[in-house]
Amino acid sequence: MASAKTKNRFLQGVGASPGIAIGSARITDRSRVAVVEEKVTQAEIPAEVNRFNNALRAAKEELKALKQQISEQKGTEHLYVIDTHLLILEDSMLTLETVGFIENEGVNAEGALKRTLLKFKEFFATIEDEYLRERSGDVETVIERVIRKLVGHSQEPLNTVEGKALIVAHDLSPADILQIDKEKVIGFVTDLGGKTSHSAILARALEIPAAVGLERATADIADGDSVIIDGTTGVVIINPDQETFREYLQRKLHYEYLERELLKLKDLPAETTDGHRILLKGNVEFFEEVPSVKGHGGEGIGLYRTEMLFFNRTELPDEEEQFAAYSTLVRSMAPHAVTIRTLDVGGDKFVTGLNLADELNPALGLRAIRLSLRQPDTFKPQLRAILRASALGRVRIFFPMVSGVAEIRAVKALLEEAKEDLRAAGIPFDEHIEIGIMIEIPSAVIIADLLAREVDFFSVGTNDLIQYSLAIDRTNEHLSNLYEPLHPAVLRSLKMVVDAAHVAGIDACMCGEMAGEPEYLPILLGLGFDELSMNAVSIPRVKKILRLCAKSEVEKIVTKALTYPTAQEVESYLKSEIAAHYSESFD
Ligand code: PEP
Ligand code: MG
Repeated sequence: MASAKTKNRFLQGVGASPGIAIGSARITDRSRVAVVEEKVTQAEIPAEVNRFNNALRAAKEELKALKQQISEQKGTEHLYVIDTHLLILEDSMLTLETVGFIENEGVNAEGALKRTLLKFKEFFATIEDEYLRERSGDVETVIERVIRKLVGHSQEPLNTVEGKALIVAHDLSPADILQIDKEKVIGFVTDLGGKTSHSAILARALEIPAAVGLERATADIADGDSVIIDGTTGVVIINPDQETFREYLQRKLHYEYLERELLKLKDLPAETTDGHRILLKGNVEFFEEVPSVKGHGGEGIGLYRTEMLFFNRTELPDEEEQFAAYSTLVRSMAPHAVTIRTLDVGGDKFVTGLNLADELNPALGLRAIRLSLRQPDTFKPQLRAILRASALGRVRIFFPMVSGVAEIRAVKALLEEAKEDLRAAGIPFDEHIEIGIMIEIPSAVIIADLLAREVDFFSVGTNDLIQYSLAIDRTNEHLSNLYEPLHPAVLRSLKMVVDAAHVAGIDACMCGEMAGEPEYLPILLGLGFDELSMNAVSIPRVKKILRLCAKSEVEKIVTKALTYPTAQEVESYLKSEIAAHYSESFD
């Protein structure tokens, strides 16, 4: 426990949800329940298995009651996270492993559950993908809930704090976050967690500033300490001195002012000063992010990454489950369009149920559309589910990592078969559903004119296009200085893609991270992109710059930018243009 003397101490965690919160700390007991593993005799085993089954049932009932309570108080928007936890409780592996430990090792139910947890954690620790690895936290939270039932240790609700407080906890479950009353809890800090843990995702969706993964927050912060959380950088300051306090208060006011100003743009059109209109949309991976896309003025979803439905499970989602997920999304975004990308796995995105072989060079391996074409039994149910959702609102479908015309033709043939299946069964879908491809492989850029005749839109995935064009691994932090969006090769590629799209009369869209960087907007607008899709919070920032630009002016900027031989020269030219015309807008 920290002493009252701790002064102006800085801790570095992971920024989980942006915004600054300043207040008094409230340590909440979300610590692990101490578990003592004890031996049980052969005769005691059936009773021990019974204790486990009862605790499991009680944990399920508790979660269901919580689900009911949350849906009555806050609506159903975020309830799927609770469903994920219910699914873990219902997973047969959890029961099989735990009962196995009780029966074969003769240990008590608590000890058996702890062993099951360790086994799951060892498995998750071997996974490279960050999002998947962090699902281990969900399993841990769920098992803790059952253990608390076994030892009769319940948790105090978070909203019982006096006045307003910052919650400091070892860990917070998604159910905890969903129960937070923002009038009372102004932010939170946890020892555990990462950027893509469900708690972090929910904090962002509900706009509660949070820093996670502090490791020692509960040890270093005492109840009543004055604490600052910077949810953007992950910095937490304990008992700040006056100077630090003033500085962060200033930052907080500035952040809130900017947010308010930016949100005023929410309902204004994404239009240049000379009347040119483009579409700004949101990228989403989870249904939870939809309110944020709408709240920031997104005019649709430009990229829905369906992979998340396939992660963290042994059996793949069937057509019905996918249809349910896609239709919820489509209904909630109506009247705007939802652009659904078919499965983009393989390589570093690992899905248990697909039994992928180890590859020497996974970035260039059997992945994305190549994998879908090899596995029509997985691909066709996804196509049918997306087609069925198209009867409920505006849906566009597109395909990842297409490298050539033969590939897109093979995809279209399968799509036609999926349509035929639905027609034969009398199931409605949009006969004119638009189809598109991600442009993220250099070969697709070079033959963009040929591909443009095959589809209704292009969407440039700069994350991969830059990686493959410059041969720079997008995840390798040692090469990040060489990952250059303004590299002349990238700029020329973008120009080729937009020009080919427009010659063929189709839309040129972008959904890579480059689309959400306000400083690149003059270039993307000048090149002629019709639609940019990005993380929700970037939408008003990009719109702000867009509304200050004249299309005719940024076209000139692009013409000049394309004459520079290095990314550094393009960048300094762009900076000088920004300083001359739009400097205040970038604050
Ligand atoms: C991209 O490659 O730019 C893209 C948007 O897709 P992902 O990041 O999912 O590969
Ligand atoms: Mg990609």
